[in-house]
Amino acid sequence: MAWEVVIGLEVHVQLLTRSKMFCGCANRFGDRPNTNVCPICLGLPGALPVPNAEAVRLAARAALALGCTVHEASVFARKNYFYPDLPKGYQISQFDVPLATRGAVALESPERGRIVCGVTRLHVEEDAGKLLHDRISGKTAVDLNRAGTPLVEIVSEPDLRSPAEAREYLRMLRQILLYTGVSDCNMEEGSLRVDANISIRRPGSAALGVKCELKNLNSFANVERALEAERDRQMALMDRGERVVQSTLLFNAASGQVKLMRSKEESHDYRYFPDPDLPPLVLVPAWIADREAELPELPETKRARLVSAYAVSPYHAGQLAAERPIADYFEAVVAAGAEPKDAVRWVLGDVIAGYNESGQFAVAPARLVALIRLETEGTVSGQAARKIFPELAADPAADARAVAERMGLVQLRDQDALGRLVDEVLSAHPAEVQRFRSGEDKLMGFFVGQVMKRSQGKADPKGVQPVLARKLQER
Ligand SMILES: [Zn+2]
Repeated sequence: MAWEVVIGLEVHVQLLTRSKMFCGCANRFGDRPNTNVCPICLGLPGALPVPNAEAVRLAARAALALGCTVHEASVFARKNYFYPDLPKGYQISQFDVPLATRGAVALESPERGRIVCGVTRLHVEEDAGKLLHDRISGKTAVDLNRAGTPLVEIVSEPDLRSPAEAREYLRMLRQILLYTGVSDCNMEEGSLRVDANISIRRPGSAALGVKCELKNLNSFANVERALEAERDRQMALMDRGERVVQSTLLFNAASGQVKLMRSKEESHDYRYFPDPDLPPLVLVPAWIADREAELPELPETKRARLVSAYAVSPYHAGQLAAERPIADYFEAVVAAGAEPKDAVRWVLGDVIAGYNESGQFAVAPARLVALIRLETEGTVSGQAARKIFPELAADPAADARAVAERMGLVQLRDQDALGRLVDEVLSAHPAEVQRFRSGEDKLMGFFVGQVMKRSQGKADPKGVQPVLARKLQER
């Protein structure tokens, strides 16, 4: 019998603030361990936390971009647990009264087409420190620079039905967060971290099965692989008539296996209570409205607009809108005078390749348009244009036409010059001319090839044909 997979995701996102959530310590990755710490983020007696206004602003911005309702009052709570990376013995988080609730992320499901995955809540919390298992042999060290870093946790509804959908949800969520500039979403540096809940049930059943949680997944590809492994494990258990036990699991990317980390805590294990040092977070409606008005055009809207305004295919619109700078560059190229179809071809070809390498656009839109013009008016071939492009990228002062001339890539279109080339070719191949005249039409390709060769690729093949035809008639 078939099983239906039910997946929900919890995503932790570090906010791009200069300082930490409740103190003035630097929020910076890569500094020497334990240099960005103070009595507040270490939770020393008598230290009082003060919320970071910029972190609240970014959290509200993220929530609004996800279509959530931002609440006028939310409550900071203490989540108690004892780990060495959490010196206070509790984490300041939000529990029953979070900053924002009920949003959505639209995505293209490989199996179901366009779907909308609900966002249950977005709340603000502080990060814990980091345990280092590889610095001192046989021992564990702790770096508390990360303790107190501002995070938002974004919890989805269990609306996802396959590991591939989960990956696509994350891709879309990351795009939105990058567009709004709330985080750099760098997974290698831990700016974006994913926990995934998965259960299975019979199709048509409304009740959820027993879920397991996969912790600390460090790439979108591994989220998908881990969910596939866990789905298969749960299906095999149930098919054998055994039960799934609620638990927290770790995924080993090398072996592709999940292993038990601990049996799952319930929220009562954390003994949440409102933090007595922090009053409720109160946001006035006008402030929330201002944050909403500040939002940039979001990826989904941008994709739709690229399709309707420039007749770009939905697939290409998705590629262009994947990163805001790419879409902006595309629009600048069109505004500078390129046909949208030529701009798509160039931006998603050689331009994006260079951008992915360096993170920059080396050729200003107007200069790319000059190159596209040379190509579309036939001054240079498409192949030649691609040879010119890296020259333009390497030298911001270089002009497309000057480069084409210097590299000898300007196509030969002068009728007299073409006529001389054709005459040379025909004189050099009298036997082929004879065969052509007795009906071997396919030799036309041979002659064109010979002319191209003699011109060292500079002849415009479209211009060669009629000259050849005329000269062959005359012979
Ligand atoms: Zn501090």
